[in-house]
Amino acid sequence: SLSIGIVGLPNVGKSTLFNALTKAQNAESANYAFCTIEPNKAVVPVPDSRLEVLSDLVKPQRVQSSTVDFVDIAGLVAGASKGEGLGNKFLGNIRETQAILHVVRCFDDDDVIHVANSVDPLRDIEVIETELILADVQVLESRLERMEKQLKGDKALAPKIEVAKKLLAHMDEVQPVSTFDSESKSLDELLVELHLITAKNVIYCANVDEEGVVEDNEYVKSVRALAEERGAEFVKISARMEEELVGLEDEDYQEFLESYGIEESGLHQIIRTGFHSLGLISYFTAGVKEVRAWTIYEGDKAPQAAGVIHTDFERGFIRAEIASYDHFVEHGSEAKCRSEGVLRVEGKDYVMKDGDVTHFLFNV
Ligand code: GDP
Repeated sequence: SLSIGIVGLPNVGKSTLFNALTKAQNAESANYAFCTIEPNKAVVPVPDSRLEVLSDLVKPQRVQSSTVDFVDIAGLVAGASKGEGLGNKFLGNIRETQAILHVVRCFDDDDVIHVANSVDPLRDIEVIETELILADVQVLESRLERMEKQLKGDKALAPKIEVAKKLLAHMDEVQPVSTFDSESKSLDELLVELHLITAKNVIYCANVDEEGVVEDNEYVKSVRALAEERGAEFVKISARMEEELVGLEDEDYQEFLESYGIEESGLHQIIRTGFHSLGLISYFTAGVKEVRAWTIYEGDKAPQAAGVIHTDFERGFIRAEIASYDHFVEHGSEAKCRSEGVLRVEGKDYVMKDGDVTHFLFNV
């Protein structure tokens, strides 16, 4: 399944954040009952207040959230791309993820050693990103070499070789794949083949202390500005605080956040942002047995969405009866939506929308 890789220099707070995510996983154990438990992976429920609203209306026996997977990729250091230490193994692990959460240290604390002896988020980001670019360059170079050998027998490779050379020139300027401004079928093919790390979406995560939570410090401001410049996502979090928060009851949790003047915890923001950066959305089923959010790709059609519940639902798909979330909440039930004329009947070409409250009809 899709996952987000957590990267960053040593001692920036990755493990602390990962522990908080793991606790969030364990708090809603139903979500990972069917998953193999892997020590470096957290299958985390996606916070969605709409689920609570729906369960208040439907009063089901259980409620289940969508989930998103985070993978802890510890150990990425300067020199990783040269295969120093276990560098290559970590780079391999990042390649298998679909988005990157880049944790950056934005707090001062003399008791926590910084690998470069000073706190400087932009320098830290550059260190990590340079390693990732160098790793991608190696992959691209060896692919290019191979294609050039094959060119004699397969002239059709020419456009792909051309685009690979251009991309390599771009990356030789220490630029990530994501800023390579070009569109072609050959480029798309190349990117699909190579799983280049710096082509993935990045969420920059500024890890702050308690003061930093209340007000952006200078470190945070610089990372926020960088993210904006790059059109990337940004989240501010205090990993240490979140680790303590996760166990709290809802009310205490809310009270705690309010005492810091924040509306939503950094951890929740990370989970939600991560989910969206993977191109995922949720639709709902709202039965008396279960109110549930189901995870699909943006752009999925109704039969594919049905297939997430059961492959038979996709194969035997007839139609979907759908109320928008707002309509469902306004009228309170599927029956009422039907009698009010807002329950839509959708066929196999319908593109699902986030929040659709759905009932599938199918042949078995
Ligand atoms: P990792 O190497 O990136 O996984 O970093 P860790 O999560 O192990 O954190 C390194 C150290 O920094 C630990 O001692 C943490 O307790 C500490 N740490 C993490 N977040 C914060 C924070 O927000 N403030 C302070 N003062 N220390 C933190």
